[in-house]
Amino acid sequence: MIDIQKDILKKYFGYDRFRKGQEEVINSILKGNDTIAIMPTGAGKSLCYQVPAMALEGITVVISPLISLMKDQVDSLNEMGIKSAYINSTLSSMEITEILFDAKDEEYKLIYVAPERLNSSEFLNFLDEADISLIAVDEAHCVSQWGHDFRPSYTRISQTIQKLDKRPIVCAFTATATNEVKNDIKNLLKLKNPNEYISGFDRENLTFSVIRGENTKKFISDFVENNKEQTGIIYTSTRKEAESIYELLIDKDYKAGIYHAGLADEQRTKMQEDFSYDNIDVIVATNAFGMGIDKSNVRYVIHNNMPKNMESYYQEAGRAGRDGEKSECILLFNPKDIQTQKFFIEETIYNIDRKEYEYKRLQDMIDYCHTSNCLRKYILEYFGEENIEDKCGNCSVCNDNEEKEDITVLAQKIISCVYRMKERYGSILIAQVLRGSKNQKLLNFGLDKLSTYAIVKEYTVKEIQEIINKLIADDYLVLSQGQYPVVKMNNKSIEVLKGNENVFMKINKKVKKISKTDNDLFDILKEFRKEISTRENIPPYIVFSDASLKEMSVYMPENEEEFLTIKGVGQSKLEKYGEIFIDKINEYRKNNNIGTRETKQEKENKKEKIKSHVITLNMYNENKTVEEIANERDIAETTVKEHLFRCAIEGMEVDLDELLPDEYERQIEEAVNRVGYNALKPIKENLPDEISYFHIKVFLHKVKG
Ligand code: ADP
Ligand code: MG
Repeated sequence: MIDIQKDILKKYFGYDRFRKGQEEVINSILKGNDTIAIMPTGAGKSLCYQVPAMALEGITVVISPLISLMKDQVDSLNEMGIKSAYINSTLSSMEITEILFDAKDEEYKLIYVAPERLNSSEFLNFLDEADISLIAVDEAHCVSQWGHDFRPSYTRISQTIQKLDKRPIVCAFTATATNEVKNDIKNLLKLKNPNEYISGFDRENLTFSVIRGENTKKFISDFVENNKEQTGIIYTSTRKEAESIYELLIDKDYKAGIYHAGLADEQRTKMQEDFSYDNIDVIVATNAFGMGIDKSNVRYVIHNNMPKNMESYYQEAGRAGRDGEKSECILLFNPKDIQTQKFFIEETIYNIDRKEYEYKRLQDMIDYCHTSNCLRKYILEYFGEENIEDKCGNCSVCNDNEEKEDITVLAQKIISCVYRMKERYGSILIAQVLRGSKNQKLLNFGLDKLSTYAIVKEYTVKEIQEIINKLIADDYLVLSQGQYPVVKMNNKSIEVLKGNENVFMKINKKVKKISKTDNDLFDILKEFRKEISTRENIPPYIVFSDASLKEMSVYMPENEEEFLTIKGVGQSKLEKYGEIFIDKINEYRKNNNIGTRETKQEKENKKEKIKSHVITLNMYNENKTVEEIANERDIAETTVKEHLFRCAIEGMEVDLDELLPDEYERQIEEAVNRVGYNALKPIKENLPDEISYFHIKVFLHKVKG
């Protein structure tokens, strides 16, 4: 059985290596163990049961809640030469009978079904008669009432399995990491001594940002304008907001779509297809609705509103960058979102305990929107990871290098106006008073007599209102509850008024531009992929992912052997598309007078010869500083340090002094004396923030070897 997994990975999926966590899960299943795997959205859970399905004799049944996903996955598998089928309500009973008939003959390696299928006696008979080696329960949190999309039919799964003559291996997958859900999965699915894997929750290619108090519509339209032709999803918490953003985008002639539970089925299917087939670039959807989509080239996910909890957020945001390419996850926070979410909780029929649980999770979400620490660290700790560096260098908090302005005086004017207006009005009226508007309502109330009337002339009413929102978002003012929220003061407002606290803020936020694969050939191949997709009636990303096209456009494979080294090219895709893509590439090469390029294999061979961390060490030994090496190699300084540390661990001679200042060493030593060195966390907690886990690890290596 040596490395049959790796062979399957290469032959069918066209990948050279497993992602974090995949191999352990696959090995566990192949050893015949029930297995539960918790991995974040986009980490690559499907492959963890698809590879075993190919390695095991017999058939794998996949239980999956979303019909649209089934079709996607089955199309995708068949493209890779893995015979599969799905059975759900979109098929006629004739078609179903036929599939089951063929399946009994082992025509298929994988069969996807919705849990409701377990109520059908025809299907149950099939399960009994066929050789079922593995049952994979995808989106297994659906079995739990604590999960966000509970599906009663999931609770029938264990009954069904118990009734089978021969019990197959059962494995379950989810991205939801709460203990309540995990225990439900184990108990309700009646897993037998399952091996449990919780893979790292980090998605390194995603950049996380929280933007507070921004005018969301303006932000979104600027963002979409700046990132035309990039694919994105915009989530809103209500249908009304989805409609209004959709209209905004359509008015500006962007290729946009909309998706929410209020649309007719056909409309939804159409939108989803348009999105899958790259006919539209951006889709606006309510987050009440799980988007049944595995589209791998989503480059950004913007949340127009704060979602109800971190699980939902991470799942939705995680739909960006499944292909592993860099992508943006942006959350636009407005204080009124808190009220919307509280309202949703109140509307539910949950009992008091459950409501309390939901309120707590909401609070964690609110805290994420306000934290002044690294967002990635917040996320990872929320999902139960430990020993996380204080700064990831890839989130809006870590990258907060845009200049903030000192707006203390302006804030004082606003706060004193709130005070003069006796904390009884909403932000519009406050802004109008400050601006000196002649609005009738304002005049009727005699608000033009206030000393704060017309004291802010340099901003429009709308702008002042936005600044008030930002002050609220940053806790310098509060918004009352209820249908007509009014702006009130808190302790912080008073400190600002007294001049004890200064307020810094970014008034004009620059909108980010996602870097594009800037290369003609990539665009040509993308166009070509679209033609094939239309002809074959499968979404473009199933033909080839963006990551595959990117590699093709860089390495320009000249023959089949080279083509096979491209990420995502397995045997079946080589046979199907190899020749036509190589022709396209050669044509481009000829037209542009490009000679032979270094192939991927050559590049990898070179890499093999001298490993990256060793290159770093060699430079370090030439007396280059960490900073110089980082600049020269275009990598982060933290990476340079990690490299050097790795060399040390691997037994190379490294002078670790630059990595660990004497002063830190002394402090860590003291902390270790106090709490011992068995766990990193207590040591870290006993030290100032600037001493990182990395420093501690270096120290421990020095003393323990
Ligand atoms: P999840 O179900 O965990 O959200 P998926 O199974 O949909 O994630 O996988 C996300 C993407 O990652 C897919 O496009 C898949 O082809 C890709 N992928 C999975 N494993 C690997 C791997 N080992 N190397 C490269 N890409 C992978
Ligand atoms: Mg999945």
